[in-house]
Amino acid sequence: MKSYTFECTQCAKCCKTPRGVVYLEAQDIARLAKALKIPRLLFLLKYARRIDGKWALRKKWRSIECTFLDGKLCRVYKDRPAQCHLYPFFPETLADPEAWDQMQNFCEGFTQLGANASRAAESPHDRNAQCASPPAFRDTPLHD
Ligand code: SF4
Ligand code: SF4
Repeated sequence: MKSYTFECTQCAKCCKTPRGVVYLEAQDIARLAKALKIPRLLFLLKYARRIDGKWALRKKWRSIECTFLDGKLCRVYKDRPAQCHLYPFFPETLADPEAWDQMQNFCEGFTQLGANASRAAESPHDRNAQCASPPAFRDTPLHD
């Protein structure tokens, strides 16, 4: 099995993908509205859209960038959605070897280690670092 280390480079690539969608849980909506000091309804009107019957973050007008991306930084990093927080370690991605390979090819935070490297994470479940991206996202999961 290939071994990798992970350290987010803060490239912001995952916050500006053409097809990814960042879904919002009720807790995300409440936390973000509070952080922005606006009512939840106004938050949804300004920053969210409906996709497949669920709330998701909007993108900027005529752009593939998340509405909260500012250069390479997330304007709501501390309060970002749970999906952003988890990226790139989505359970469904970890459980699917092909999806996991695609993720490692997409996200530049992964570095493949040699066979004898002592810090090797021998399985995707043994990640040795948390995603610290400003953004966090990703072609798989996020935006549309
Ligand atoms: S998690 Fe996102 S910002 Fe971090 S290295 Fe991967 S693609 Fe870049
Ligand atoms: S971390 Fe999430 S909320 Fe922040 S810019 Fe990236 S996609 Fe948007």
